[in-house]
Amino acid sequence: MRLMLLGPPGAGKGTQAESISREFDIPHISTGDIFRENIKQGTELGRKAQSYMNQGLLVPDDLVVDLVKDRLLKEDCVKGFLLDGFPRTIPQADALDAELSKMERKLDRAINIQVKKEVLIERAVGRRVCKSCGAAFHIKFKPSEIDGVCDRCGGELQQRKDDLEETVIKRIEVYLEQTEPLIEYYSQKGILMNIDGEQEIQTVFEDIITGLRG
Ligand code: ADP
Ligand code: ADP
Ligand code: ZN
Repeated sequence: MRLMLLGPPGAGKGTQAESISREFDIPHISTGDIFRENIKQGTELGRKAQSYMNQGLLVPDDLVVDLVKDRLLKEDCVKGFLLDGFPRTIPQADALDAELSKMERKLDRAINIQVKKEVLIERAVGRRVCKSCGAAFHIKFKPSEIDGVCDRCGGELQQRKDDLEETVIKRIEVYLEQTEPLIEYYSQKGILMNIDGEQEIQTVFEDIITGLRG
């Protein structure tokens, strides 16, 4: 199954991606995670991406597209994949389409997680991520067992630099301007699936699975 997750910042893409990739045994490809890993390692790509990310802006298309193309060529993508946070612009979506066509493949579904603005802000601002493994928690909706400590690896939890309220508001604006048009794009291709993302984590997951199996 070749899937992509669409939705504004804080909608729950990363949270759902973990469960979906486990359910179908396909790799979870998050461009945001890849950039954060590059920043942590101090690579050239990380240096280029960092200033855009901290301002809540999108990283330029060419940087993202090349990275995803390379990733899709890896052996583990033969059985399918789950893209999380890519594509985020129409040019990225066209580039993905072209690349998949070359491989004689196509996207099966675009899963659009819908959540209203006030809820997004509360989710993103309360998000805490593990410094070591990147797992995401929420101070209110998905608290770790021990405050500030990752349940998965014992690492230290921190707030993402771009999860400060003003930056989240900026990211939502950027989403509305550059990413939301993809809803119509995938709807026209007949592969869009809308999901109510304002329900509990487990209910959202069940709706996604039902939608994909149905
Ligand atoms: P995204 O990848 O779309 O930015 P995340 O999956 O990281 O979103 O979720 C954002 C924050 O909201 C995280 O702290 C996560 O624990 C929390 N969260 C995710 N889904 C839900 C949900 N259905 N209800 C409440 N909180 C959620
Ligand atoms: P969220 O899950 O909250 O939407 P992500 O982790 O997906 O956030 O992305 C964090 C940041 O990484 C984005 O604000 C943007 O700067 C950069 N980024 C991630 N994916 C892309 C992409 N496909 N195109 C451009 N920038 C991206
Ligand atoms: Zn961890």
